[in-house]
Amino acid sequence: MVYPESIANLITALQKLPGVGPKTAQRLAFFILTLPREEVIEMARALVNAKDKTHYCRICGNFTDGEKCSVCLDQRRDAAVICVVQESRDVLAMERMREYKGLYHVLGGAISPIDGVGPEQLRIRELLERIQNGRVREVILATNPTVEGEATALYVARLIKPLGITVTRIAHGLPVGGDLEYADEVTLARALEGRRQL
Ligand SMILES: [Zn+2]
Repeated sequence: MVYPESIANLITALQKLPGVGPKTAQRLAFFILTLPREEVIEMARALVNAKDKTHYCRICGNFTDGEKCSVCLDQRRDAAVICVVQESRDVLAMERMREYKGLYHVLGGAISPIDGVGPEQLRIRELLERIQNGRVREVILATNPTVEGEATALYVARLIKPLGITVTRIAHGLPVGGDLEYADEVTLARALEGRRQL
């Protein structure tokens, strides 16, 4: 099937989204074409706006519009506990469960030699600085239960333990090979509850 160039470009752009193959991209493109012009402009603006306005929280690496994210700014949170996750979306998954009252640290990925991601590409140095400058009592490693997530958890644990801080790993009520963000709240709550010391 041959599309006009403008539609072909739209389909190509949509295919860059995770989980969107050619067929879905095509369906989305034709759906967008049926929308009123104002709605399409609104959508495009929302994309650019989000990209322009958000950056990483100076403290934890979570996405934010401001200098610090809403979690780091919340005085009611327990600053003595830091939950280490791979991505900003994992913070959302943890927050959905409404049980966790500590702070976060977003690494920005996991150690993966195959993908050329080493510890220096992650926000591990920032985590160590936070621990050294703060009054942290416990670090909960909530990286994904994948090979990369496990390797990252072990690496971080090895660095932190000599500092005299309790290091725990969330339990595997979580499906192995799965992503934290897809876990339901109950599974995640159990995983947090059953965390073990490393
Ligand atoms: Zn933050």
